[in-house]
Amino acid sequence: MQLSRILLIEDDRSIASALTQALQTSHHLTVTRSGALALRKAEKNRYDAIILDLGLPDMDGLAVCKQLREQGVTAPLLILTANEKVLSKIHLLDAGADDYLVKPFSLGELKARLWVLLRPPLPPGPRATISVGGIILNRRAHEVRRDDIPIRLRPKEFALLEYLMDHAGTLATRRALTSYAWPDRQNLWTNTVDVHIKHLRDKIDRPFNRQLIVTMHGLGYKLDAAPDTIPEETT
Ligand code: CA
Repeated sequence: MQLSRILLIEDDRSIASALTQALQTSHHLTVTRSGALALRKAEKNRYDAIILDLGLPDMDGLAVCKQLREQGVTAPLLILTANEKVLSKIHLLDAGADDYLVKPFSLGELKARLWVLLRPPLPPGPRATISVGGIILNRRAHEVRRDDIPIRLRPKEFALLEYLMDHAGTLATRRALTSYAWPDRQNLWTNTVDVHIKHLRDKIDRPFNRQLIVTMHGLGYKLDAAPDTIPEETT
């Protein structure tokens, strides 16, 4: 298996070494504490993902982010920030970031975000935004809203919802859901999907009046709604 190449730009030694330890078995990590050096590295090498701390000793992390995009670097970019309030998510996405994590974060959370970013790109065709029964899911921004209320989902919950929404109104078998959300796993506990669907329901259904995820006993699940009409995308 080829290791994915990650550029980590982080001046905090303890975080850099924790991430290196956590990621080095499945990724090839290049670590630098300098924004300027990172820009040069990214110009010469191809990375599968970039993890960027916003508070660097030599440059503003956001400026690094913008310059990477101006240089034509298309690798998914995950921002690490010490303070959620300093910059809004909109600012970060505007600067070219794909996702962000607020310190302190768990290594599990970081791995989950990275997993999503490293997933192969969607084949051309599916729309970035799907809307079913008042749920709006944006594949690119990795965001979900129901009745305009933002809902935070974990990566597997997101994948399951994405599949259910893509197949709204029809049966999604457990097997289909499993192979979509866990493409690299052969043997999952049979109730893994059910457990994640339960968590998904707690977030996407339970707080609302109408329950959209229907259990098809012995078979799987169905999102019981028709796709909404949404305006054509401009991008
Ligand atoms: Ca820092």
